[in-house]
Amino acid sequence: MDRQLTDFILKGGRLIDSAIGLDENRDIHIRDGVVAVIGTDLEADGAIVIDVKGLLVTPGLIDVHLHLMNGLGAFGVDPDIFGVGSGVTTVVDAGSAGHSLLTVFQNYVTKNAKTRVLNYVNLSTLGGVTGPGYGILADPRLIDEDKIEKAVDANRDIIVGIKVMATGGALGAEGLKPLARARKLGDNLKLPLLVHIGESWTKDATPPPIGDVLKYLREGDIVTHMFTSHPGGLLDPNGKLWPQVRDAKDSGVLMDVGHGLHNLNFDVARKVLDQELFPDGVSTDGHRGNRAGPVYDLPTTMAKLMALGFSLNQVVEMATVNAAKLLNRTAELGFIRVGAPADISVLRLEEREWKAVDSQKGTIQARQALVPVYAIRRDTIYEPLPMERP
Ligand SMILES: [Zn+2]
Repeated sequence: MDRQLTDFILKGGRLIDSAIGLDENRDIHIRDGVVAVIGTDLEADGAIVIDVKGLLVTPGLIDVHLHLMNGLGAFGVDPDIFGVGSGVTTVVDAGSAGHSLLTVFQNYVTKNAKTRVLNYVNLSTLGGVTGPGYGILADPRLIDEDKIEKAVDANRDIIVGIKVMATGGALGAEGLKPLARARKLGDNLKLPLLVHIGESWTKDATPPPIGDVLKYLREGDIVTHMFTSHPGGLLDPNGKLWPQVRDAKDSGVLMDVGHGLHNLNFDVARKVLDQELFPDGVSTDGHRGNRAGPVYDLPTTMAKLMALGFSLNQVVEMATVNAAKLLNRTAELGFIRVGAPADISVLRLEEREWKAVDSQKGTIQARQALVPVYAIRRDTIYEPLPMERP
């Protein structure tokens, strides 16, 4: 049940705000949708008290990669399912819309959602219309820089970058040419590229080597599916990082998890992490086909990273302040600050044994689970949707 309250206090929670390195019990008083006071032992002063003792309170969680055009193909999902219905306040669509659907996205997805919905516009005019197994960049006419620029300019408020499928299936005979065009476009529009790696949808296609893809990326661009076990990933046949991967990371290229149906593999993750290449963003790659497993939601994906060895504070940092940096939205997202609109997640850290399952049905034993309790945006408190969870 959603509750709208003009004056309330979140009482006694463990506030983790990685933006300022805080991890202590604090009360938060929210008045008219704005954070009025952060402190200890705050007086109720007529406000409704919401007891969050024993719970985690964080800046609103940000899921940086999903597919959110509800009804589009097999994947499109209502943004509020992985959003406020999962304790998450901001969700980002990764390329459902090409330029011709961008205003539709703005009007029918972003404006109708309770969750904040941002967007990576697809480099291909087709976007997610055909599904991921098609040559959406394989015909040069499917990239229209002028129209992308116009559509981005008309929707700047929601656009955070340009989605590029760097798979053999998508690129086809065009090879690396679409990446060169994306680079130029990104530079012109001052937008980062979000590049999908991993040949998961087209088994007969050969992806470009990761080293060739990375040549087109710069500081602030993002590689998603960093733990994929499919061809085109970060590891060479001996399980070592391709040298260009380290170089790219050192030069400021960001790495995102992008769990999804196919692209979180625990064995790959361990090898990548053992070589000290760490994720900048954690994301579900959530869509209609993976909500009921293996993905579930962002808190569960965060808990899987904890099972891989990250601390609670590290995964909260990834899903809040680091995600805001990745989206170039640090002025509005990733923190809890007096005077700013309330944008808060409340979670429960459960100490219990559970089996974390990856995209290839590989398992690891997890000892802590993260369960959403509330997502708060301004004056509204959203409870998570009922869901079977691991
Ligand atoms: Zn995706």
